[in-house]
Amino acid sequence: MACPAASLLTHAARAFAALLFAAVTGLHASAQEPTTREMNLLGWQEFAELVPARIETVLLPTGTLEAHGVLPNGSDNVAPEAMARALAARLNALVAPTLNYGVTGDLDAFPGTFRVSEAAYEAFIEDVITGLAGNGFLNIVVINGHGGPQTAVLNRVAARVGREYRVRTLVTNWWTLASDITFDVFGEDGGHAGNNESAYVQAIVPDRVHPDRYEPDMASASVAGATPYPFPSSIILYQAGQGYPTFDAEQARTYFERVNQRMGDVIEETIRLWDLAGLFR
Ligand SMILES: [Zn+2]
Repeated sequence: MACPAASLLTHAARAFAALLFAAVTGLHASAQEPTTREMNLLGWQEFAELVPARIETVLLPTGTLEAHGVLPNGSDNVAPEAMARALAARLNALVAPTLNYGVTGDLDAFPGTFRVSEAAYEAFIEDVITGLAGNGFLNIVVINGHGGPQTAVLNRVAARVGREYRVRTLVTNWWTLASDITFDVFGEDGGHAGNNESAYVQAIVPDRVHPDRYEPDMASASVAGATPYPFPSSIILYQAGQGYPTFDAEQARTYFERVNQRMGDVIEETIRLWDLAGLFR
């Protein structure tokens, strides 16, 4: 990995050189869409033309493998990845490869789940975010698909890297950002693998959602003052009696669009305010 500090020092110089190049060669090149917004699919030459001269923002989806009622175990990966792809053009961003392994909490006893320790995750994600900074991105947006202890680690690491390398970082948790949309679309609160997450995942991979395997008894809410391990239900309602999945295709489509719109609004506004204040420019 290149040294981020050295690379960042040349940030402004490289951006200026690219602007000069664009001015000399005409506006055609700079107006062109990138051939892809997936970092996985870009070659180094096109990447160098794009970042940071034409693209300053990267979206990094993070998730984990964990039981989700009758949704895929990788729902926390599938959801933020689809979200990042849906938002990339609007935000003029690239999409970094998804970090599919994460800090699964007390659902890790369910079959097919996978847990990385917080210590290993923290060290690894720090190197990933630092690497994105070193590659010239100014705005590093984590599209997180999995909550619990992982969110705390991401918040801590993103701020630390931002401060150290003078880049702007934003960690987003879509289910919290879209909480009012959940109430609006479903008329009640949501849950882990509940109405909200089921709808979002159903909009992406409808064939991987299995209402035929569903029983309402698969869902329960935490009881204040009682902490079981393992948690006994793979659908965890935010509030008792609310948030059961509906498996309604129309609601799924509506919810998917509205959540993406909200996520785009929040990210766009944060970048606008960073720019307005001239931070780290
Ligand atoms: Zn989930």
